[in-house]
Amino acid sequence: MSQQFASDNNAGLCPEALEAFLRVNAEGHAVGYGNDMWTETARNRLRTLFETDADVFLVFGGTASNALALGHICRSYHAVVAHVESHVATDEAGAAGFFSGGAAMLTADTPLGKLTPEAVERLATAGKGVHSVKPRALSLTQATELGTVYSAAEIAALTEVARRHGMKVHMDGARFANSIAHLDCKPADLSWRVGVDVLSLGGVKNGLAAGEAVLFFERALAEEFEWRVKQAGQLNSKMRFVSAPWVALLENDVWLKNARHANAMARRLADGLTRLGIGLMAPVESNGVFAAMSPQLQERLHQKGWRFYPWGTGCRLMCAWDTEAATVDRFLADVKAEVA
Ligand SMILES: *Cc1c(COP(=O)(O)O)cnc(C)c1O
Repeated sequence: MSQQFASDNNAGLCPEALEAFLRVNAEGHAVGYGNDMWTETARNRLRTLFETDADVFLVFGGTASNALALGHICRSYHAVVAHVESHVATDEAGAAGFFSGGAAMLTADTPLGKLTPEAVERLATAGKGVHSVKPRALSLTQATELGTVYSAAEIAALTEVARRHGMKVHMDGARFANSIAHLDCKPADLSWRVGVDVLSLGGVKNGLAAGEAVLFFERALAEEFEWRVKQAGQLNSKMRFVSAPWVALLENDVWLKNARHANAMARRLADGLTRLGIGLMAPVESNGVFAAMSPQLQERLHQKGWRFYPWGTGCRLMCAWDTEAATVDRFLADVKAEVA
């Protein structure tokens, strides 16, 4: 049983990315550190996709893309406003604080993984002036850690609060593609057009082996970012092996095809679980299903060889670009046998 629901990063490279990787290797030598033709093309394709002249950087992973962006926006006495379950607050070993030289996290525990304008307002105004850290960045995760998706209007309302309090807006888009697939809108409509200044755009969970993009829509914020990337050890000397698969992902909307497929498999899984009487802890709006399965049922499924993680009082089931309908159906059959 090779396919699992533990994480969308358990999947391999999509065929288009792998083919590009082999193609660029067959080309022989090329100049390093991103001064190659593939990197130039990847940057330009991202600008075209987002319909704006953003400053684009490629780093190895998602933690780096988030932490370097936030570290560049914040000074040591600043704070990042984020959801309590957010990756930047709970899964990055304090990286944003490290790269900013000390910035703190101010978090809110709002429902369904989504921040609200009221919560952001409260955190932005809770300080005691010079005695407290100064809120400087709002970090939104799209899709959220609970698989939910902010609408364009919701993002606009949140970024309006941020702007009113002098904060810049960062978006952790590790699953940005899945949110676009869900809302069927343009990437610009969920980012710079609704007030996002910097986007960490995920490629790995969408079918790459390595390499996330950082897009600075407000280009002034990107000043000297290349030094930050280099100092953090995130400047790939053989950058073309990251950029060529990115180009392949952006060609013919492969990124969207992959995201739509992962979302559809999550929908299939959720519908099947619902038919078996298992509740959902959040609406399914991207490629994750958060199921209210008892620890006992989870344990019996683990004993049958299934891998997935507990989440709160239930569990998290992630679908990937390559999750097969047959895998979902086999899992559902095992759940059915256990709940019968
Ligand atoms: C996976 C993920 C990341 C990236 O994490 P890395 O393991 O550092 O690549 C960032 N944010 C969210 C919400 C994620 O799910």
